[in-house]
Amino acid sequence: MKEGSVRGFRAYTVKHLDDLLRRGGFSEEERLRIRAVAAVLPFRTNAYVVDQLIDWSAVPDDPIFRLVFPQEDMLPEADVTRLAGLLRSNAPNAEIQVAANRVRARLNPHPAGQLDLNVPRVGTEPLPGTQHKYPETVLFFPKQGQTCHAYCTYCFRWAQFIGEPDLKFASDEIGDLVGYLKEHPEVTSVLLTGGDPMIMGEPVLRRYLEPLLEVEQLESIRIGSKSLAYWPQRFVSDPDAGETLRLFSSVAEAGKTLAFMAHFSHPREMEPPVVEAAVAGILSTGAVIRTQAPLIRSINDEPGIWAAMWRRHLTMGMVPYYMFVERDTGPQDYFAVPLARAYEIFRDAYASVSGLCRTVRGPSMSATPGKVCVDGVAEIAGQKVFVLHLIQARDPELVGRPFFARYDPEAVWLTDLRPAFADRFPFEAETAGALLSA
Ligand SMILES: *Cc1c(COP(=O)(O)O)cnc(C)c1O
Repeated sequence: MKEGSVRGFRAYTVKHLDDLLRRGGFSEEERLRIRAVAAVLPFRTNAYVVDQLIDWSAVPDDPIFRLVFPQEDMLPEADVTRLAGLLRSNAPNAEIQVAANRVRARLNPHPAGQLDLNVPRVGTEPLPGTQHKYPETVLFFPKQGQTCHAYCTYCFRWAQFIGEPDLKFASDEIGDLVGYLKEHPEVTSVLLTGGDPMIMGEPVLRRYLEPLLEVEQLESIRIGSKSLAYWPQRFVSDPDAGETLRLFSSVAEAGKTLAFMAHFSHPREMEPPVVEAAVAGILSTGAVIRTQAPLIRSINDEPGIWAAMWRRHLTMGMVPYYMFVERDTGPQDYFAVPLARAYEIFRDAYASVSGLCRTVRGPSMSATPGKVCVDGVAEIAGQKVFVLHLIQARDPELVGRPFFARYDPEAVWLTDLRPAFADRFPFEAETAGALLSA
């Protein structure tokens, strides 16, 4: 989709950043420093997010502002000062890119081997744009779905959006995927992700979805999307909204489940009436909507926010699915919530909602061995420990078996944890903690 006003959708990029920031009352120096951050991290938003979701009177603390706009303290002060200096002196773009790349390289751009782990093969050929980590589920990254209606500042896939082809991975070969699935009857679920697959217009989305309907063993097709939060018009008033919903209906008609994995970060995102219409439209096709988001400091790190979100999802007919821990990439120092605090937030929110909302799991770390859930903090044999289990694992043998880590109030990610009552974690090879470091 082109930038501009196609489908009434109006994208704002870094070119518009300075003008947008004026609405927040930032000084010239502040705007320059924010632009310096945007030279490193991707920025994209749209008129709906800017006009309907952000409360400009509350900027810079407004959660939706923090969700989409770069902030100067997201990066080390010295880096921001250097880049701001280059911008101030109108340095050549090539020079700015060199400086920006240096900062990016220090932000762990490919956590858990996003780029090269788990790429399936057909014969000896790798299958690009595909990731197969768990036996029953394959991730597919459609080539035309490699952007979003707006970018989240905390996105763990941020490196894909900075316009360097070697940092991207995507595929336009649905035929190859179908061939792979036929050789792998254990795969029952395909998850289209990106970017946001809903950035694709209906004819393109159809080219990816329809061949999957012919794959007999497939039980479910998932679409991971933030479009209900950032561009709900996609299902209500866009020219292909009706066709898109008909395409969704064809999945149920083929005897499969379409699971729309909706990313909602804050209750504000469900407020505009158009969201309710979009959700109702999707549900009317027989699809199910499951909701997920990471826990992010300064955006949604309070139990009341999550409880409100899950309650609203329930009344709208959506099913709470995952609360994630922010991954170890990008401005993680800025957004990270310690695991001990994450667990308390999850527990307090979970304890205050109806059982119908307790379909949610978390806080969950999507790491190399699998999805690791922090079940709680306990004292066992005089030692304070984290109780953990794998919700999802490369090795299904490990799913659902409790294990322990030494309590550490500062730990923010799996790699910060050390085993308790054992010399290694169950998912580690007998000799070293090599798996953990990937
Ligand atoms: C989360 C995830 C899935 C899906 O896991 P579920 O527990 O079934 O939701 C599949 N593949 C990868 C790589 C994932 O991170």
